[in-house]
Amino acid sequence: MAFGGEMEDLKPEEVDELHGELLALNEELQLLVASSESDSRPVDLDQPIGRLSRMDAIAQQKMTQANRRSAQMRIQRIQTALIRIANGEYGNCLVCGELIGFRRLKVQPEAPFCIACQSQREGGTSASLLRPSGRG
Ligand SMILES: [Zn+2]
Repeated sequence: MAFGGEMEDLKPEEVDELHGELLALNEELQLLVASSESDSRPVDLDQPIGRLSRMDAIAQQKMTQANRRSAQMRIQRIQTALIRIANGEYGNCLVCGELIGFRRLKVQPEAPFCIACQSQREGGTSASLLRPSGRG
């Protein structure tokens, strides 16, 4: 008897594929963080550049720092995902335990939550729609 349905466990080859993508992504982000490190020095206000380009430089630096922070957060999620692969727990939502699904993981292999829990954490406005009505 087949269980059917689309919410099956990830196949070993799918986990393999996502594992490879996590490693590649990890490397890419580590490089990005390392290369942005030299850019995050304070802007030298004594530099003989015009006011506009100085503001440009500051804005640029803020963006670099923001990118770097989000890259570091993503690296952390990737590390967690790699540990979960090693433990055989990869592919399940950290909140509700439901399968996240290969298609979602293909887009975002480090995703720790299913779509429902993710949108609940991000927005919160649609949370009431997902809650079961407990009237009785
Ligand atoms: Zn969930």
